[in-house]
Amino acid sequence: MRARHAGPAMVSALLFASLPAPQLRVSAQASPQPYSALVFYIGAHQDDWELFRGNAAMNDLRNPNTRVVFIYASAGDAGRTDGWWEARERGAVAAVRSGIGQEPLTITYVALHDHRILRYASRNSASYFLRLPDGKYQAGTGYPATNNESLTQLRDAGKPISAVDKSTTYASWADFRQTLQAIMTLEGTLAPSVIHPLVNAPDYAGVDNSHPDCQKPGTCNACDHPDHRAIADALREFVSGKYNRVWWVGYDSEHRPENLTGQDFGRKGRAFLAYGGAVLDDTTANGKPVQPDLGEWRSWGARDYFRSVTWDQPDPDNPVCESGTRGAVPNTAAHR
Ligand SMILES: [Zn+2]
Repeated sequence: MRARHAGPAMVSALLFASLPAPQLRVSAQASPQPYSALVFYIGAHQDDWELFRGNAAMNDLRNPNTRVVFIYASAGDAGRTDGWWEARERGAVAAVRSGIGQEPLTITYVALHDHRILRYASRNSASYFLRLPDGKYQAGTGYPATNNESLTQLRDAGKPISAVDKSTTYASWADFRQTLQAIMTLEGTLAPSVIHPLVNAPDYAGVDNSHPDCQKPGTCNACDHPDHRAIADALREFVSGKYNRVWWVGYDSEHRPENLTGQDFGRKGRAFLAYGGAVLDDTTANGKPVQPDLGEWRSWGARDYFRSVTWDQPDPDNPVCESGTRGAVPNTAAHR
């Protein structure tokens, strides 16, 4: 989502529940499924995967033998404390469920790397919400409501960052990165036959839009949100050597030709509308209805641009970008 990144707490009671051996509970819960693929969608905000890789995620969710894990680093609060981020979180959960159908949703907390993290699970999916403050479009410096904390400043200045629900604090960039890695390792234990899972995430190769000159030629993902870029930077530090990667183009894809049609386009639309519909329901209940952002859909809905890197390749500073055509995802065997 662009600037409008951003409801009452649906799970606040659970927030303070005790945490008896969460990893074991998670493991026991999903043990019988023989997953043949494990795919991560890791972004900042609640509508990022829907807008930039929604077709791929929906196709993955359809296959019960594919385990699909979503990680949202930001609360997407936009500096607001009026129920907006809670509404967006509901939207993200609804988008995932729209790709699964009628299956139970369970909510737990996992304790990883000394952090308590909210986890939703339904059939072959898990969704983690770290609820860190929105870093602010074209700024990366956060909002007064969240003490001007941001992932950018955690990375660049070592300024600690606390979840908007005050559930935990990340003291350092390494702490944040290692927590992401711990989530991915935990999920890997639920798909033990998958040696090289696939990670979908924003491309790190570009200057974020807090820099006025971000649109310089030759980068793969120009002028993306500072939070998107921060996620990319954290992942880049550890994914090579283990994970296949699909580095997606974020905001900049709006400048490229439409390239999604048919079922891919339709399924991506279903995810986006499920997100938007749930946000509308929740914000209506809050007294300030927010309609699905069709302007954002027009910018990104019919587009899907990314570049693929296999697990055994490095992530150099200046990679070869995919240009003008859709990249090829590593084949199923390569995902393992
Ligand atoms: Zn975003």
